Amino acid sequence: MSVDVYSEKASCERLLSVHRWTDKLLTFRTTRPAGYRFTAGQFARLGLEVDGEIVSRAYSITSAETEDELEYYAIVVPGGKFTTRLDAMQPGDPVWVEKLSYGFMTADRFTDGKQLWMLATGTGLGPYISILQQPEVWQQFEQLVVVHCVRHREELTYADKFEALRRQAQVQNLPARLHVLRSVTRDDAVQAGDGLLLGRITALLRDGGLEKAAGLEMSVEASRVMACGNPEMVTEVRDILRERGMTPLRRTGGGQFVTEDYW
Ligand SMILES: Cc1cc2nc3c(=O)[nH]c(=O)nc-3n(C[C@H](O)[C@H](O)[C@H](O)COP(=O)(O)OP(=O)(O)OC[C@H]3O[C@@H](n4cnc5c(N)ncnc54)[C@H](O)[C@@H]3O)c2cc1C
Repeated sequence: MSVDVYSEKASCERLLSVHRWTDKLLTFRTTRPAGYRFTAGQFARLGLEVDGEIVSRAYSITSAETEDELEYYAIVVPGGKFTTRLDAMQPGDPVWVEKLSYGFMTADRFTDGKQLWMLATGTGLGPYISILQQPEVWQQFEQLVVVHCVRHREELTYADKFEALRRQAQVQNLPARLHVLRSVTRDDAVQAGDGLLLGRITALLRDGGLEKAAGLEMSVEASRVMACGNPEMVTEVRDILRERGMTPLRRTGGGQFVTEDYW
């Protein structure tokens, strides 16, 4: 799409900072368009100029709803048009942000339930970072369970953020308890007892490993579930939850889970 056409629906913002977790994983911040509104859990559509054309992609927003800046968590995909450009960018460079926010994976859509399970592979963690920064979610649920599954342990990012969120919740006297379960699928160096789980989310859901690690029982009555990231994981999680009697969240009310595929 040409820059002229895109500029009708997007605002030209600036890259503010890039934090590199590994050579492939980065958190980046942009200025926030004037009047931009979103609900934690939603995604933005961003545009970068590549060879005179705009390449646009969806990115979950990781910042809190009230922040002045927008933050995102990204993986650099080998040969990917958008992320190859993103990887080469410097603070000050332009990033287009579409004026609307998108997506339905928000906690406020659940009207009941005591536990919120947030299942993520890789950068699918992003929306939960935003959701957990909303004090309301710590009041809405008694137990908040983040499950982050990656291949290797260096991809287990945002650990300091989780600690900070726990401390903040304590200071603010927010009632929910946060559990962070982290799992690796391909790290031979992981030892039993070092606090990490081994294996895919779907295997750990099926064999009860997640419930055991959290010390919670998943049930239709108590549990509300989000799953985000790799589409194979998301599809299988949906099947497992259906087998357990859960149904997708409906606009008209009812349902226990909501999901988002990244590709
Ligand atoms: C609703 C939604 C929200 C998204 N939010 C994020 C986000 O917060 N962070 C993020 O990194 N990506 C996110 N994505 C994916 C993102 O939009 C791009 O697809 C990705 O950045 C690659 O773009 P590209 O042009 O570099 O590569 P493309 O040429 O578009 O390559 C796409 C291929 O890269 C792989 N791929 C794409 N995204 C990922 C990923 N996140 N992890 C592992 N492999 C991937 C898949 O094999 C896919 O077929 C989201 C996608 C959707 C639909």
